[in-house]
Amino acid sequence: MKLMLTCKQASQIISQSLDTPLSWSDRMKLKFHLFICDACTHFNQQLRLIKNAIQRMKLETENDDTIQLTVDAKARINQAIDSNQH
Ligand SMILES: [Zn+2]
Repeated sequence: MKLMLTCKQASQIISQSLDTPLSWSDRMKLKFHLFICDACTHFNQQLRLIKNAIQRMKLETENDDTIQLTVDAKARINQAIDSNQH
């Protein structure tokens, strides 16, 4: 297994890792490259920060929708129970 990546290869693996899980060998090669290369370490951190921010925004929006739906559903269920009882 060749451990040495060029910065171009490393940055390709980094962007790929955001979308798909890396193979074991890619992970090892990337880890090794990041260990010796500050530029790619920085690039990796930046990409991850951006990805985390996007995911957090998505998550918060989804959570809001869920809360909304749950409240609506509860109200509807309560109404149904009430109308059954009277
Ligand atoms: Zn590099």
